[in-house]
Amino acid sequence: GMSMAEASVTIANVQRFSTEDGPGIRTTVFFKGCPMRCPWCHNPETLEFKPEVVWHAGRCLGDRGCIETCETGALAATEAGITVDRERCRGCGACVAYCPSEALQIHGRSYAIDDLSDELRRDAAFYEASGGGVTLSGGEPLAQPEGAIALLEHLHEAGTHTALDTCGAVGADALRRALDAADLVLFDVKTVDAAKHKAYTGVPFERVDASARIVEEAGVAVWVRTPVIPGYTADEENLQAVARYVAETFTRCERHDLLAFSNLCRPKYEQLDRSFALADTPLLSADEMGRLADRVRGESKPGIRVCWSGPTRIQEAVA
Ligand code: SF4
Ligand code: SF4
Repeated sequence: GMSMAEASVTIANVQRFSTEDGPGIRTTVFFKGCPMRCPWCHNPETLEFKPEVVWHAGRCLGDRGCIETCETGALAATEAGITVDRERCRGCGACVAYCPSEALQIHGRSYAIDDLSDELRRDAAFYEASGGGVTLSGGEPLAQPEGAIALLEHLHEAGTHTALDTCGAVGADALRRALDAADLVLFDVKTVDAAKHKAYTGVPFERVDASARIVEEAGVAVWVRTPVIPGYTADEENLQAVARYVAETFTRCERHDLLAFSNLCRPKYEQLDRSFALADTPLLSADEMGRLADRVRGESKPGIRVCWSGPTRIQEAVA
């Protein structure tokens, strides 16, 4: 394989002081590129593998200087502001470097593993004091297998707690190698209905199931995550079937997190020129989430803590 010094990864974002991706205070590394296409994706900037430029209207000075800096002619000034021709853009970052007001931003930066690991280790004191660490998320970290594995190994050897957030649509060998250097797996199970899984994500459930069994065999602790999406996964039957699957499949599952649908990602879709099928879908209420969590608890087993989180809509008082 590739040596550690040669391995590199394309990262959409590095988020410090995150508390939602595993125990304690963590840094979450969002890998760029995902094999699934869930219509509710909250991180649309991680779907594509290649870097993507976005323009922020509120910060733009209107000088149009960026247009000249682009050698491929990908930028244009229109009525709607600065637009990016995504076929032409090759992600060089010249326009971003030029822009005097940070109105242009690039999602997707290439890091050498050594450099990224060193940067992540700078917060080691916070990780150790809080029982935290580093979470590889995305996108799908193992869609860049050599880099993701090298990063996990690097951190693990340095004594940092490592969590791998995976959608499960990954290669078996890469997953086994990653698990050797992972302290925790955040494993996504959206639905166990084969037809729905394929329709929603583009990937057959059998692939996720095969990965679940590899995680179980490896004996690594698991937190399962299920997005609760109105019109897709948010019904009792679906969530109860997921809970039964989790109880039957994992002996080391500690938590089952139900993640309430969020539409806060809507501006990101607009900036990326992507359509968001759930743009007008209302949030769930706290009552609905609480009720669904109770149903999941009813099908879960001792040792698994069922939690829910995420934004909810304001409930009107009932007379
Ligand atoms: S260089 Fe920046 S501020 Fe100037 S037009 Fe381009 S995006 Fe706007
Ligand atoms: S990143 Fe490079 S290719 Fe893409 S729009 Fe900016 S200058 Fe052009």
